[in-house]
Amino acid sequence: KELTDINSLASEYLNLAYQSFKSKNEGVDIKLITELDPTIPKIELVRADIGKVLLNILNNAFYAVGTGHALSLEPMVIVTTKLREGSPSSLSRDLGRAGGSERKWVQISISDNGPGIPDAIRDKIFQPFFTTKPTGQGTGLGLSLSYDIVKAHGGELKVETIIGNGSKFIISFPLKG
Ligand code: ADP
Ligand code: MG
Repeated sequence: KELTDINSLASEYLNLAYQSFKSKNEGVDIKLITELDPTIPKIELVRADIGKVLLNILNNAFYAVGTGHALSLEPMVIVTTKLREGSPSSLSRDLGRAGGSERKWVQISISDNGPGIPDAIRDKIFQPFFTTKPTGQGTGLGLSLSYDIVKAHGGELKVETIIGNGSKFIISFPLKG
């Protein structure tokens, strides 16, 4: 593991993923937005592994907005980083975790304004080999691998999605101390 500036990691991989998308989808322009918190502390992580996670999620996001499902829409991918206090997920927050020593989390989120993820498959997308992509275009391993890598870092990978509106993948890492 190495002490890593996740703002530069996130922008580095956003550019990488977009270049790779552009090379396969000439003429499709996607609006990229970054909202990076400059005060966010560096965290210990395996750069190459978290790079893979970012690439997987970003590739999915570009696919979701850049494959012509809704031509009137302005395709967009937003990457944000922030420091968050409290429980890792809204569920445990709602259930009221023990107060007092609220944890701090470093969060990277990747949002797209693609089609969203239907209810019927929402709990399957993190399973190995689950894919809705045409044969040859998806292995169905990206999210399951990403989930395992984030877990191995003590973190969390969650998704929020609204049909017709888009999806947001949220990666959270606990801050030590
Ligand atoms: P693959 O990309 O090879 O299909 P993944 O594990 O990366 O495998 O994703 C699994 C499935 O989750 C995708 O096939 C798709 O149905 C769904 N999915 C993932 N990301 C998105 C997204 N941003 N928008 C809509 N659906 C998504
Ligand atoms: Mg994928």
